[in-house]
Amino acid sequence: MRKYMHFISYGCQSIDEEDIQTVIDTLRSPFLTQGPKVAEFEQVIANFVGAKYAVAFCNGTAALHGACYAAEVGEGDEVITSPITFVASANCVRYVGGTVVFADIDPVTYNINPAQIQANITEKTKAIIPVDFTGQPADMDEIMSIAKEHNLVVIEDGAHSLGAEYKGSKVGIQADMTMFSFHPVKPITTAEGGVIVTNNKEYYKKLRKFRSHGIEQTSYAKEQGDWYYEMTELGYNYRMTDLQAALGLSQMKKLDQFIERRREVAELYTEKLKIMEGVITPQLLENTASGWHLYMIQLEKGNRKQIFEKMRAANIGVHVHYIPVYWHPYYQKLGYEKGLCPEAESWYEKALTLPIHPQISNEEIMFVIDKLNSFVNTN
Ligand SMILES: *Cc1c(COP(=O)(O)O)cnc(C)c1O
Repeated sequence: MRKYMHFISYGCQSIDEEDIQTVIDTLRSPFLTQGPKVAEFEQVIANFVGAKYAVAFCNGTAALHGACYAAEVGEGDEVITSPITFVASANCVRYVGGTVVFADIDPVTYNINPAQIQANITEKTKAIIPVDFTGQPADMDEIMSIAKEHNLVVIEDGAHSLGAEYKGSKVGIQADMTMFSFHPVKPITTAEGGVIVTNNKEYYKKLRKFRSHGIEQTSYAKEQGDWYYEMTELGYNYRMTDLQAALGLSQMKKLDQFIERRREVAELYTEKLKIMEGVITPQLLENTASGWHLYMIQLEKGNRKQIFEKMRAANIGVHVHYIPVYWHPYYQKLGYEKGLCPEAESWYEKALTLPIHPQISNEEIMFVIDKLNSFVNTN
């Protein structure tokens, strides 16, 4: 069988000489962490999405932990999220002692189904964490109206969706707080990194405190003397460094370009795959523009494992995103049972991630399509 000349990975960072030089310049500056770059990066992100505030964190998971803290999720509170996501969307609820409630997905968009959110609301529900899975915004108008009716906080997990659009606006202003991740495979990278954007000043203040040990500079403290500060709550050291922020600033200049290429790749896949028997291509909600973090297809003939293995053997870095979160042993031990979200589970059995990232070439994509075509109907 013909293999591609190199491994085609499913996702990959795009780092150029300008990115490298920016980090080197910061290494030579007086500040390695907590210098001017973090604040500058926060401003650029806030401006980009149109939010008032941004608080950068050392990674997206820490940012989600901060958001759960700011929303005052705690012991006895329930938080509703999607089972088809990376484990961090649920784990952040556990960090603050809350209970995760999984609401099933919409089989068309693969995102959390608002009707299923509604069906899972109880007196203990405190928050909702919708995930913009694959870069497609969740059904935010519906979700925000449910939240309003029941007085819930909405924390959008936008790890996949920086630059995506919902009804003409950038993702990041629809929810009470929105998280973006800057892990290498995400829309832009700072190696590790994350941010919360919000229009709410109270959340903003809590997030900043939480990120840095629970310490604050009060006017009262200042009267005590310049050395004096007070720790008023138990926070963490979740700070982003200036090295990461410098890389992020340089990457932000290229975000539009990255997304444009991702959209071209997605279009090419959809054009060729929508006519392929046994393959279901992704569909977008009206009035949304995906950032195409992932390109996911469904294989209808029960042959996902065979096709996955053949594709890998041909040097194609297919993947599967994600194993339903509550299938993991940690959640099983907490008492979640298989069968809980039937749509999510049936979707998972058929799902396959095809390679997509800004640097992938048309030749690579055509190889992926060609191989898929030859494997799909010969099992
Ligand atoms: C990557 C990711 C996270 C966590 O972000 P990190 O920066 O890796 O901690 C959370 N949710 C989803 C959906 C992700 O893909």
